[in-house]
Amino acid sequence: MKIKITEQDDKKLAFTLEDADVTFANAMRRIMMVEVPTLAVEFVDFHENNSAMYDEVVAHRLGLIPLVFDPKMYNFTEECVCEGKGCSQCQVYLVADKKGPCVVYSGDLKSTDENVKPADPGFPIVELLEGQNLKLDAIAQLGKGEAHIKWQAAIAAYKYSKNNDTKFGFIVESVSGLEPAYIVQKAAEIIETKAEQFREQLKEVK
Ligand SMILES: [Zn+2]
Repeated sequence: MKIKITEQDDKKLAFTLEDADVTFANAMRRIMMVEVPTLAVEFVDFHENNSAMYDEVVAHRLGLIPLVFDPKMYNFTEECVCEGKGCSQCQVYLVADKKGPCVVYSGDLKSTDENVKPADPGFPIVELLEGQNLKLDAIAQLGKGEAHIKWQAAIAAYKYSKNNDTKFGFIVESVSGLEPAYIVQKAAEIIETKAEQFREQLKEVK
């Protein structure tokens, strides 16, 4: 298999994949979208919220904010050394404390890990009027897009080349805080791990 990058920026990567088959291309597409882990808000503790928006709505909006993070630094909470209790190796706190009148933006969230921050600081969360306050602790953790769309890493699509059914033109657009090149690489790693596990299980069958 050969990969040739044809277009690349912070959010988008286009490449051609040669000498592959449709099963592999489709597996890559699916894994890039819903199996590459990303970081998103999962729990929110509200200390104060007398805005016009219910806690649930604010929490939902917080969940949809793409977060930039270093994937090497985080474990899945259920696979972590803390055995699912939650610790600094699997969770990060994002704190907001704002008084109206103002609009609270994603950029107002203060993170306990300086390497974790909203991919876009300008995402509006809620508007506060005079006398309204928002004070909360949000906890973000790793997840996969197959569990909830808020963890989706990318939108990925491919098309066949004319006259060559072993060549695919891919477009990968990151919708998370991860770079598209990382998403492609991670997806390939995940396929490799799956193949390895399959080989191991096959040995037991023999
Ligand atoms: Zn942990």
